[in-house]
Amino acid sequence: MVLPTTAVTINKRRLLRDLNAVSRIGIGDHGSVTRLVFSIKELRGRQFLIHLMRQAGLQVHIDRIGNIFGRLDGSNPKAPAVLVGSHLDTVLHGGKFDGTMGVIGALEAVRALKEQKVMLRSPVEVVCFVGEESSRFGYSTLGSSLVAGEVHGADLSNAADAQGTRLEDILSSLGIYRSNLRSMRRDPASVKAYLELHIEQGPILEAKKKPIGVVTSIAAPTRFRVVFTGQADHSGTTPMEMRKDALVAASELVVAVEKISRRYSRMEKGRVVGTVGAMKIEPGVINAIPGKAELSVDIRSITASAKNRVVRLVQAKIREIARRRHVRIEILPIREENPVPLDKRLVHLLKECCEAKGIAYEVMPSGAGHDAMQMAKITPSGMLFIPSRRGISHSPLEWSDPEDICLGTQLLLDSIVRVANEKI
Ligand SMILES: [Zn+2]
Repeated sequence: MVLPTTAVTINKRRLLRDLNAVSRIGIGDHGSVTRLVFSIKELRGRQFLIHLMRQAGLQVHIDRIGNIFGRLDGSNPKAPAVLVGSHLDTVLHGGKFDGTMGVIGALEAVRALKEQKVMLRSPVEVVCFVGEESSRFGYSTLGSSLVAGEVHGADLSNAADAQGTRLEDILSSLGIYRSNLRSMRRDPASVKAYLELHIEQGPILEAKKKPIGVVTSIAAPTRFRVVFTGQADHSGTTPMEMRKDALVAASELVVAVEKISRRYSRMEKGRVVGTVGAMKIEPGVINAIPGKAELSVDIRSITASAKNRVVRLVQAKIREIARRRHVRIEILPIREENPVPLDKRLVHLLKECCEAKGIAYEVMPSGAGHDAMQMAKITPSGMLFIPSRRGISHSPLEWSDPEDICLGTQLLLDSIVRVANEKI
């Protein structure tokens, strides 16, 4: 039986109940949520999802890293599957909705199909990717990158958490080594498309008073660490002209990243952003000249040329500062990604799903990275956004209206029905 898309409806109460239940796992001060990748809390989150999937009667498959797939068969079980999902890990003291809404929304959509006995042509798999957030290891979209065959051994060598635990060691304890990274890749022939529902994490939808965003492309970051090494000396006895202050050099870079990014964001219509988000100083005491300053640079754009230009200018500036201030520098690459366009046919289909229900939508790029940008490398991928209150995310203040959550999930379901039944 194939019903028209408008006929299958989600269970709003169940959706909001399960979203709430997941957000209690790892809850902390002021309602913040912390489920760092491979932490006990994050594992509990994943365990709870497996429980919900089994309860819903989905066939659960877990791959070596812990990506979870809950499958609902289609009328043609051999047809490639429509994958729908997001992630359950969070940043440190993050919010309730980032990632979680996409996973639980996908689960609710598939539960509604099963409950209302709607058999689609293609199988549908709810997916939860491991380690989308980079806040623990500085490495983002880990699980989806493995599924897309996009993890390379060399990328992993600089990835470690604040306690010094190396990502590579965790992976090898799971049986994932440099030699078998490629075997984690999902056969693209087994996937028809990937869909992801996510909070916007920015202010555009709220400002434009639109409940839905249809995403056209995902900005990708270039990230690197810069280490300035000068000379730690006594702050009382070292004359100003004899100092090699690593922090003052680093501070010049912080200002330069902002200045260069602003200059290009204006030229490229707001499409480049640059941030220094972390800094470590040694020795870090009041009476010593900083001998070492290490900082992280994150530059993103939805156009590769604009991003690369800013990266080149920032790196030239680093060398200029080092020469002038007589400090040594090291630039350690973390990740180099290219901006990813999403599938045009899916953008069109998602717009049609909104129009069919008379929902106002905004066609927009995503400034944040998502699992969809990895999945787009092996299958047609599409994304829906719902508004974030005041554009806030990665914070306990992150909030999305329950009405928008339900609307986004319903549209996700409508689009799953069409993608699974139609030729795309
Ligand atoms: Zn996310």
